Amino acid sequence: MFFHRETVGRVEFAFSDREGGLSAGPWASLNLGTSNGDDPNLVQGNLELVAEHLGVDRLVRMTQVHGADVAWTDGVAPGEIPVVDALLTDQVGVGVLVRVADCTPIVLAGLDEAVAGVIHCGREGLVQGVIPAAIGAVRDRGAESIEAWIGPRACGRCYEVPEEMADAVAAAVPEARSTTSWRTPALDIGAGVVAQLRELGVQVNDLGDHSCTIEDERFFSYRRQGQDSGRFGAIAVIR
Ligand SMILES: [Zn+2]
Repeated sequence: MFFHRETVGRVEFAFSDREGGLSAGPWASLNLGTSNGDDPNLVQGNLELVAEHLGVDRLVRMTQVHGADVAWTDGVAPGEIPVVDALLTDQVGVGVLVRVADCTPIVLAGLDEAVAGVIHCGREGLVQGVIPAAIGAVRDRGAESIEAWIGPRACGRCYEVPEEMADAVAAAVPEARSTTSWRTPALDIGAGVVAQLRELGVQVNDLGDHSCTIEDERFFSYRRQGQDSGRFGAIAVIR
């Protein structure tokens, strides 16, 4: 169920994998995605399983749109699913969930303030600045010292893009430029994420640098599986 699970100060977080869920077929088995064709009842069951295993009272998720908007859980009504790409909390027992299949999942924890968060960052989010937006919001609530964990994602040797696209992203974030193992233009979004976080003074732990979602079948991958790929995720909660 969990590729990685850790507690740092008052923040507990986990990155999920494909195992231990209820879904079948391309969504087998721990699919957390609700808009990819899987049975909504099974997905709900999977979300409940994850929340139960982590001891989360309320699990807040977001509708991710590759933007740079941020929401705090104290501003999210029960049952509401905010349309944002970063979800932050300073409420005890409220879990925040990010869902991915090749994009980069990021967990944040305040080291001097009880603040936790998750970020969804793909190519567009990297350029639009979802990471500085989320870090700025966390700092606004008093957390100076922030640590981040980055999970499995499409690696820079696999994520092939047209040359113009690679140029456009590299113009904003030079560290994201890459080349596939077959020597064509590519992007390394994880490298861009690490660079942006470090520039913002965040301590970075890269848990996914040897776990490419396109290559590693323990994870869902949009590039490898197509439209009906499931979604794995990361959850953070304050104790
Ligand atoms: Zn790869």
